[in-house]
Amino acid sequence: MARRKRKVVNSDDALAAIRSAINNTASFGSSFNFWTPKKGETAHFRLLPPVKGMPEGAFFVQIAFHFLKRLGGPNDIVCPRLTFAKNEPCPICELRSKLLADGEEQIANLLRPSKKYLMNVVVREEGEKPVVYDCRTTAFQQIVGIIGEYGVDIFDLEEGWDLSVRRDGEGLNTVYNVMVHAKAGICALSEDPDTVDEILEEAPDLYEYAQNGLNRYSEEDLNNLISELFGEGDTSQSIADHHEVQSAVAYNSAHNDGDVEEAKRYFRKRSSRT
Ligand SMILES: [Zn+2]
Repeated sequence: MARRKRKVVNSDDALAAIRSAINNTASFGSSFNFWTPKKGETAHFRLLPPVKGMPEGAFFVQIAFHFLKRLGGPNDIVCPRLTFAKNEPCPICELRSKLLADGEEQIANLLRPSKKYLMNVVVREEGEKPVVYDCRTTAFQQIVGIIGEYGVDIFDLEEGWDLSVRRDGEGLNTVYNVMVHAKAGICALSEDPDTVDEILEEAPDLYEYAQNGLNRYSEEDLNNLISELFGEGDTSQSIADHHEVQSAVAYNSAHNDGDVEEAKRYFRKRSSRT
């Protein structure tokens, strides 16, 4: 019996339509349906292949943020170096390298970028619609390992594989366990070909999102932010002397030692001054 292979649509017209939709929608990002597994639960999902203008093989996009709230700055600052693999200059990463070179590892850790991987999936428990999996590094590495083992067959729309993910623990101790959903076996994305088309049509172009849908600061803005946080003299010593920095380092080291109460005390001390 001849197998019918369905190709993922990749027409220039469709891409142009999305680009125009993005330009006309200020809140493109907020229209997304982001998903992440719930604590203590196992979910089953199907990875979608690249859709629309996403390059072949690129079923995910990497984005990264610097969380500067504990230093008195804003959270969720997009890291230009690690987002969309653009490798653009990032003053915060540069400052972090300088701190590392000067042996200030604890302070450098406060500036460490946090990576996320976005991918289109259909969560079996949530019906036949695409959602954007907001995936952490450890789970992503497991997914990549599974693809290494099973090859691209895993994405096959008619004869692919579902995955399962279990989330345990909380905070910094959150653990994800991704596996092939062996019990489901080889299966279609959907039994109904029209539904498959609808899912692929509805799934967003994640490359487009990483490029245009995130709030970004310019290099100049990031330099200004650093001056605002640490003063003009951004030498390692002057940063280490900074009160917010000392408080944040104390918080982190208490947290790493497992002394949550002590960490909270530092956090309260900091919060009460603002
Ligand atoms: Zn950065």
